[in-house]
Amino acid sequence: MAGKTIVVLGGGAGGLVASHELRKKLGSEHRIVLVDKQTHHVFAPSFTWVMLGWRDPHRISRELGLLKKKGIEYVNAEAFEIDPGNRLVKTGAGDFVYDYLIVALGAELNPQAVPGLSETAHTPYSLEGSVVLRDALKGFDGGKVAVVISALPFKCPAAPYETALLLEYAFRQRGIRSNVDLRVFTPEQLPMPVAGPLVGTAVKQFLDERGIGFHPEHKLVSVDPGKKEIAFENGQKAGFDLLVAVPPHRSPEVVRKSGLANEAGWIPVDRRTMKTGFENVYALGDVTSISLPGRYRPDTPLPLPKAGVFAHFQASVVAHNIASGIKGGTGRKEFGGMGYCFLETGHGMAGYGSGNFYGEPQPAVTFGRPGRLWRFAKVLFEKWWLRHWF
Ligand SMILES: Cc1cc2nc3c(=O)[nH]c(=O)nc-3n(C[C@H](O)[C@H](O)[C@H](O)COP(=O)(O)OP(=O)(O)OC[C@H]3O[C@@H](n4cnc5c(N)ncnc54)[C@H](O)[C@@H]3O)c2cc1C
Repeated sequence: MAGKTIVVLGGGAGGLVASHELRKKLGSEHRIVLVDKQTHHVFAPSFTWVMLGWRDPHRISRELGLLKKKGIEYVNAEAFEIDPGNRLVKTGAGDFVYDYLIVALGAELNPQAVPGLSETAHTPYSLEGSVVLRDALKGFDGGKVAVVISALPFKCPAAPYETALLLEYAFRQRGIRSNVDLRVFTPEQLPMPVAGPLVGTAVKQFLDERGIGFHPEHKLVSVDPGKKEIAFENGQKAGFDLLVAVPPHRSPEVVRKSGLANEAGWIPVDRRTMKTGFENVYALGDVTSISLPGRYRPDTPLPLPKAGVFAHFQASVVAHNIASGIKGGTGRKEFGGMGYCFLETGHGMAGYGSGNFYGEPQPAVTFGRPGRLWRFAKVLFEKWWLRHWF
């Protein structure tokens, strides 16, 4: 059998799983080439722990170069052109002709999309941002804290709420809680809408119990750095002393101009196989757009959330099907929409939501009340992830 070349773009959650599973399933005559512009893989679920000083950045980062010893050809370069017509990817380290392509380039942060945001806001949505926020929190002893979800879609629907709950806990630990007015602003109607009203109501209750203000249907339009004021599409304004934002997201430029993307810049895929409109080109994880059958707003189709758990499971399916196709096997797998997530609530506790996000007529997601066991499970998962793939 002639050796095939499978190029995986992106060494984040999805690309990491896809390249490992392909390597495991295919003989050494087949090349697995993983391209990432970063030198390190970082474990994003721990960014909130970095924010609070509970993790050092190096503890949640791993060198992508380590993958070479596993037989994965890691290329540290930016991909700047995807040419599916010629089965070619152009990168800063040269061109790669592929037999199969997996696009797992994620979503990037675009704070410049909101005037005033990039100069003013802190964010736990990047490793660097979490470190800067950690240092800013050390010098913060009270005032107005606004946690703002700037725009939809954004990755990890639970993370902004976890951020608010953990900040509240940290302020309490430091004895400054009574000096802090903590509020969450979001364009959503309820937290985590795709998980359904039961989960949203439960999360809102956690905020209420801790005295965290919740302001739904507030879409950020601008930030006034001088006045320290945020303005929303509905005409409301709010002051802040510390602004903690989930910046607007967009797909990487190479994807937007590739011909693979829809008008919004995300890649539409077959929601069960992750096939794109181009032969032997797959996309998975945050860079994709998948509409769900369940709807919570009559006119707004809710997409599958952007989350590592989906990138992970989708990557397994894609790797299995590519390997099976190459080896002439017939068994194909499908991604069925299953997902889970931890939501840390402070005081050493976490809740746990899980279910089928492709459930009809609505996603069938259940939510376990916060407890110490789920928090412990989250710590174990972090350890497993960073040991298993490196
Ligand atoms: C604070 C926070 C907490 C989170 N918590 C959870 C959680 O508890 N559970 C969960 O399921 N998800 C969580 N997520 C979401 C999760 O991290 C993402 O959904 C997941 O990483 C998506 O995987 P991906 O492979 O699609 O993209 P990514 O992991 O973002 O990987 C994309 C990769 O592509 C690379 N890249 C981009 N453009 C280029 C280019 N042009 N050339 C070369 N390389 C490029 C990037 O460097 C990156 O390594 C969290 C996210 C955040 C920010």
